[in-house]
Amino acid sequence: MNLSAIVADIAAEMAEAPERGAPADYIPALAQVDPRRFGIAIVEADGTCHLAGDAEQPFSIQSISKVFALTLALGAVGDQLWQRVGREPSGTAFNSIVQLETEGGIPRNPFINAGAIVVADMLLGNHEPREAIGEMLRFVRGLAGEEDIVIDAAVAQAEMETGHRNHALAHYMRAFGNLHHPVERVMGVYFHFCALAMSCRQLALAGRYLMARGVNPGAGRSVVSPQRARRINALMMSCGHYDGSGEFAFRVGLPGKSGVGGGILAIVPGRASIAVWSPGLNARGNSQLGTLALERLVQRTGWSVFDPQ
Ligand code: GLN
Repeated sequence: MNLSAIVADIAAEMAEAPERGAPADYIPALAQVDPRRFGIAIVEADGTCHLAGDAEQPFSIQSISKVFALTLALGAVGDQLWQRVGREPSGTAFNSIVQLETEGGIPRNPFINAGAIVVADMLLGNHEPREAIGEMLRFVRGLAGEEDIVIDAAVAQAEMETGHRNHALAHYMRAFGNLHHPVERVMGVYFHFCALAMSCRQLALAGRYLMARGVNPGAGRSVVSPQRARRINALMMSCGHYDGSGEFAFRVGLPGKSGVGGGILAIVPGRASIAVWSPGLNARGNSQLGTLALERLVQRTGWSVFDPQ
């Protein structure tokens, strides 16, 4: 199987795609991104990289950061985390508030905004927001093995100014006692996580621990236990695309996490960590061409977890 040829073909096909969706427009930094951008990076278990298109162009990873935040929070507080965040798909939009009312302020899962806000609250612990943000930056740099990953302060600031809905989620959960720190401090942490800027290559490198039983093959170091890696993958499959998670499992069949910046991190357990990026979104806020590219990739590789390996 010639993966370099496959990713090159897919990038060429995406350049011709008629329907690419529209980039998020709630902040200028995302609205201004050229919708014709497309990148794909595959890192295989042995470390071989296959890149095509804009694979080296940093973009706003947004909700993909929820995977790294969950990983850090599980390390910090362990399985107690599940007393404050559920593990079920929501079937509602990423920023929905409705289930919080009937479910006692406990978000359905850590990959919707409400869940990630509780996770950010846990990571704040006894720290200052800038320490929690610094810890995240060190973590993803370590995972990718690259020091030049940064947080886009302008994106974080714009999110802070326009994120009324996210603030509402946080206040609502605080009213239920499921947020332990002041809302402004938690939101500062949450928005800085969302504003991480990474390229497809860096993101695929950072995701390696999820394909390799929790071990970062670059550093040869355990990041999480094999059981935890398996569980994070399970949550990515069931909840990683919000109310589009069933459709993503149906079309792609891989654990995946999307972000409103147009990125998707997808994991092929034992084989590969994949990142795709195309800023145009579908109706559910997931990358339109990113999903199509992954669908074509699994058709050509047989990598869906529902295919016999
Ligand atoms: N920053 C975005 C928000 O909080 C992240 C959402 C997403 O990527 N889907 O609304």
